Amino acid sequence: MTNSLNVAVIGAGVSGLVTARELLRQNHRVTVFEKSNQIGGTWVYNDQVEVDNCLDLDPNRTIVHSSIYKSLRTNLPRPLMGFSDFSFEDKSYGDPRLFPGHEEVLRFLQDFAKEFGVGEVIRFNSEVVRAELRGGGFVVEWWTTEGGYEEECFDAVVVCNGHHTEPRVADNVPGIQEWSRKQIHSHNYRVPEPYQDQVVVVIGSGASAFDISREIATTAKEVHLSSRSSNVKVTKLDGYENIWQHMMIKRVYDDGTIEFQDGYSIVADAILHCTGYKFHFPFLRINDMVHVDDNRVGPLYKHVFLPQLAPRLAFVGLTFNNGVVFRLVELQAKWIALALSGKISLPSKDEMLAYIHKFYQEMDETGIPKRNTHSLSFQFEYVDWLADQVGLHVEDRLKKIVDNLFENWMARPKGYRDVLVL
Ligand code: FAD
Repeated sequence: MTNSLNVAVIGAGVSGLVTARELLRQNHRVTVFEKSNQIGGTWVYNDQVEVDNCLDLDPNRTIVHSSIYKSLRTNLPRPLMGFSDFSFEDKSYGDPRLFPGHEEVLRFLQDFAKEFGVGEVIRFNSEVVRAELRGGGFVVEWWTTEGGYEEECFDAVVVCNGHHTEPRVADNVPGIQEWSRKQIHSHNYRVPEPYQDQVVVVIGSGASAFDISREIATTAKEVHLSSRSSNVKVTKLDGYENIWQHMMIKRVYDDGTIEFQDGYSIVADAILHCTGYKFHFPFLRINDMVHVDDNRVGPLYKHVFLPQLAPRLAFVGLTFNNGVVFRLVELQAKWIALALSGKISLPSKDEMLAYIHKFYQEMDETGIPKRNTHSLSFQFEYVDWLADQVGLHVEDRLKKIVDNLFENWMARPKGYRDVLVL
């Protein structure tokens, strides 16, 4: 005997689409709430930007969901961006490159939704504003331009609202709060033209800092990269005439001067924060059971279940530095759908809490900062564990591709997309 539940899914990006598909496959009744008028989440390019006062964000600003810029190509190759039974590798929608542009990913997701009938269960233009415990389930309230506020009861809620929208900034750099020149977050970066002939400082060391700094260097006079992970003295970046790498910023001054810890100073026109994003669940009202503390969403068992409410409240897609985002969220979705059906059981609440406690303790002991709780450091241990829960196996070939990608990235950062061997 399996359960068929009434499940609300919040968001129709990759996580929400694959979650809906897995829930439908297990005969649950599914409603996906999507605040925009289309599927795809991050992969829906929007040339609009928010009013960017990044050090003092207005909570009432009009929020633009996607953070992708106009020229963005994937940083993972096609084989790492497919689902177990719906490959990206053998499809082409006009851009056959191994690392295609963002439009191609959106088309792939549209194709996926069509193939599995997911579109039929999505309510578009429906922004969830409240998900609250009521009786043994949840009441979900949403807002639509046509209907105003509406609400409905569900047995379970799966949160798939994404985590690349709410900027996190380097606000602890001495003097940066008072720096009156241009400062923006990569969330609002679209094209390099506004930086023509300027001196730009890019803070960060992730994929966005890497790609955006190189794109800005095509128009800017100088680009200076600064990151807390760099401990080398100022160096010119290999293969570029106008990009320099620095240690962290020591202090900024109101006349535009930026002093780095490597002793080097410049006068800059703009600072671009490529410093990541915050998890943000403004609609969750569940008696303070979930907290976001220095980007740790907790307490969550294996980044998915809140022990007190498992499996009726679950999160998909919180992990980062994954290597295989699409496959990973697919496995999380399968795990949730099977747990809700009663086909697989979860540990008891106390066992889950004990596991989480131990996990946090081990992080502390090994010096891993709280903000990296959901980072998988491109390791496959978690993915393999999830696959095991749902009776699947992740092909060794994908792991090999991730290894090759890293080797390339280290050896030929400038052209890593052009030389990958599958
Ligand atoms: P999202 O795509 O953010 O979708 C969330 C959805 O929820 C959105 O549609 C949003 O409108 C909706 N929503 C939010 N709040 C509400 C609400 N209250 N009510 C209703 N709907 C709501 N991954 C890769 O695999 N390869 C890459 O090359 C890659 N490059 C990236 C580059 C950049 C610049 C960024 C920012 C991310 C990149 N990623 C990449 C990661 C990417 O985020 C994931 O691939 C994936 O898009 C995450 O999907 P998601 O569904 O979890 O979130």
